[in-house]
Amino acid sequence: MTFLQALSASPRRWFSVHGREQKIKDYIALSNQLIWKRQASFLAAAILAAFYFDPSSVVLCYAFVVFSEILDLRLGSVAANWDGRNRAVGRAILWRITINTLISATAISIFSVNMAIQQTSGGHFTPLFLLFSASVFAAMHNSQMIGILLLRLGIYGIAFLTIALLDVMRELPAFSSPIWLEFFTVIFVLYFLCDISIKFNQGYRERYQQLRRIEQEHARAKAALEVKTRFLATVSHELRTPLTSIIGSLELINGNRLGAVPDNLKPAITIAARNARRLADLVEDLLDMQKIEAGEMVFDLHPISVNTLAIEAAESIAGYASNFGIVVETDLCAQDALIAGDRKRLIQVMNNMLSNAIKFSEKGGTVTVQVETFGQRTRVSVHDHGQGIPDGARENVFGRFTQVDSSDIRKVGGTGLGLNISKLIVEQHGGLIDYTSELGVGSTFFVEFDRQIGDADTDDGGPYLSQVA
Ligand code: ADP
Repeated sequence: MTFLQALSASPRRWFSVHGREQKIKDYIALSNQLIWKRQASFLAAAILAAFYFDPSSVVLCYAFVVFSEILDLRLGSVAANWDGRNRAVGRAILWRITINTLISATAISIFSVNMAIQQTSGGHFTPLFLLFSASVFAAMHNSQMIGILLLRLGIYGIAFLTIALLDVMRELPAFSSPIWLEFFTVIFVLYFLCDISIKFNQGYRERYQQLRRIEQEHARAKAALEVKTRFLATVSHELRTPLTSIIGSLELINGNRLGAVPDNLKPAITIAARNARRLADLVEDLLDMQKIEAGEMVFDLHPISVNTLAIEAAESIAGYASNFGIVVETDLCAQDALIAGDRKRLIQVMNNMLSNAIKFSEKGGTVTVQVETFGQRTRVSVHDHGQGIPDGARENVFGRFTQVDSSDIRKVGGTGLGLNISKLIVEQHGGLIDYTSELGVGSTFFVEFDRQIGDADTDDGGPYLSQVA
């Protein structure tokens, strides 16, 4: 857009061609932000001018400038309530910006020209320098809307030329006179001001386009994530039902309830049942992850005894542990504590920590569930004497689909989701999950919660408890 095109574009056309609501908002936001800075500069200039020039005309010009600032302030509050979508309001705001610019630039120009008129011929340093400062200020801060900026600079340009021509008109000097030199210097400065305005505008446009690109990328990534989430949720749901019936059938066959199973078939059926269960675990983990991500996992909080939680978890995993030749022990706390928790979800967390401890222990080992209470906190730990975890593996331990040893030769199975889900569940309870470990010696995974006061729930009912202060 050329200088003249920009100036002649009416707000309606400008608006419909560019539709840049964001630019209007940016313009007004910055303009409001700088209002006191501008005011301070105007006041300082007015005091200076009133001292050296005719005070009454200075006060009049200053009042004119303040009036335009008040209009800007009022416009700022209108724009703040604009949602950026109603184009009619946008056009009205643009018109008001145009009128305010016209008033404010004219006021500043009259202010400067008035000073120059009162000066005797030669060296209008003060008014020219004030205009120059106002122009640079505008170029720096009003570059969001090139049309508006050029309108302001155009008015300042007329004031610049008027001041420069004043002496030429007064003196009608010879071409070799310094008055002409001053005139041409002003033309040069005007060119410089136009150039830096264009540069500032280009900078703003580039930043604006970059922001738009980032926004578009973000929207695309979000849409892709939503599709992936829906896809995973659908597939998981569709897999769960047939898997449940496959597992049920295999258990019936394995339990000889459908007749005696020939010996040569038993190993194959056992492997099929184990793999079907692993698949079902993965599907459950995926569904849990989706639920937590979508904020759809409901936590039914009740007072729970930590000792009871530890006993239940140890008992429920005992069968699994015996398959690995592992014994699970409990070390309860004499001073039982209560926490506010969702029993089912907390058992899920405990099961995850325990099954890991069992999986990564050597046959014949012991896994201990320990309860400790200190101050307002209570901690349940799972100790094992297994292979341990190397330093710096925390991200893999709690990451999603990540494992410390994800190689093909790893001995134990798993999805790499269990601890990630456990962490999300514990955090939803306002608790903390962490571990300490020594390679080749063993690991301790623990969860920690605030203690509660009140009576424990024996089952799922019962009152919600207040936190220990
Ligand atoms: P997985 O399904 O693989 O067990 P988890 O999220 O439960 O997934 O655990 C992530 C990884 O953390 C495991 O694959 C393992 O490498 C490591 N890990 C967890 N618990 C232990 C433990 N008690 N001993 C050694 N490594 C462990």
